[in-house]
Amino acid sequence: MGATEYSGLEPQFTLSDEILRDRQICVTDCYQCAKCSAGCPLTFAMDLLPHAIIRLAGLGQTDAVLGSNTIWVCSACETCTTRCPNDIDIAGVMDYLKERAVRTGRPVPQPQVLAFHRAFLDNIRLAGGRLNEPLLLGLYMLKSGQGLKKVQTGELLEDLRLGIRMFQKGRLSLKPPRRVQQLEALAKLWRQPKA
Ligand code: SF4
Ligand code: SF4
Repeated sequence: MGATEYSGLEPQFTLSDEILRDRQICVTDCYQCAKCSAGCPLTFAMDLLPHAIIRLAGLGQTDAVLGSNTIWVCSACETCTTRCPNDIDIAGVMDYLKERAVRTGRPVPQPQVLAFHRAFLDNIRLAGGRLNEPLLLGLYMLKSGQGLKKVQTGELLEDLRLGIRMFQKGRLSLKPPRRVQQLEALAKLWRQPKA
């Protein structure tokens, strides 16, 4: 058969192909030694261990990995990435999978983690590229719905007392941080089309 007879076929990309294309990480290099999972400090809260996520991603089990709470529990500490004998950036895969879950409208099993990510990005945008802790806290309270809950339960007063104590000990600054100099480069990040 001539090559033209195949011209109507769409290329079939698996999840591992997409991770390789978008993040240059080859999950199929994994030989399941589980060193990543053995070093991860958060496995107690995960429904799938990190090495299982990598294996499932390699097998193209998109629903299983995107529906897992592991990708949201991961704190991006990169212990797994450092330990991997095959140089697989497991933390980078977790990050990619989070992005992918949000982009494709998947239900997020840990909505407060997503609220924190969104609050953090808004903080960086609004505070000129720097972390402004009081602003971050306020944005997180709003986005996560925790603010209202804390008012109702009286926990907000407790938090305020803690904030005052931290301020008195110099552990919390109310002074807005200086903006970064390259504001245009920062603005470009928000204008970049989503992959
Ligand atoms: S440490 Fe690397 S090779 Fe070992 S299971 Fe984890 S991802 Fe796979
Ligand atoms: S980056 Fe995530 S998966 Fe890797 S060790 Fe840290 S918490 Fe565990």
